Amino acid sequence: MALWDLLGRHLGVAVVDLLGRAHAALPTSVTIGIQPAADAVALARESLAQGFRVLKVKLGKSVDEDIERLRCIREAVGPGTAIRTDANAGYDRASLLRYLAGTRDLALELCEQPVARGAEAAFAGLEEAERVRLAADESVHDLADAGKLIAAPGCTGSSISS
Ligand SMILES: [Mg+2]
Repeated sequence: MALWDLLGRHLGVAVVDLLGRAHAALPTSVTIGIQPAADAVALARESLAQGFRVLKVKLGKSVDEDIERLRCIREAVGPGTAIRTDANAGYDRASLLRYLAGTRDLALELCEQPVARGAEAAFAGLEEAERVRLAADESVHDLADAGKLIAAPGCTGSSISS
């Protein structure tokens, strides 16, 4: 990216135009931290009123509270708002399975880093529809990490996120 940036600056062209602009706009999300469900719902409603259409809900301290908070948010915002989550490595396999079962009907977009780096074996045996909604973005520090995740059959979906 640094080299693309350098070339773009040299040519006076934005990197996105050098690479070929694929999107005119990219919706960003507003982050809802771990907090009581009522506060999370209030922030979700406020964010929608400001024009946001994507919510990113932080998880990972208590899977049961996470599920309840997500249910309340989905009920409040309706089906037209994208909801993604980020557990920041807060789950173990048992919590992950509970999360997946408890949120199956909430139409969640994806979950970032549900388990700690190195604990990706927790993804083994999950259904494809579940795996593709799990992002191991913090698990990949280099090409070797990426190779391990790609090589392990059924280990994980892939994602680039922050
Ligand atoms: Mg994250």
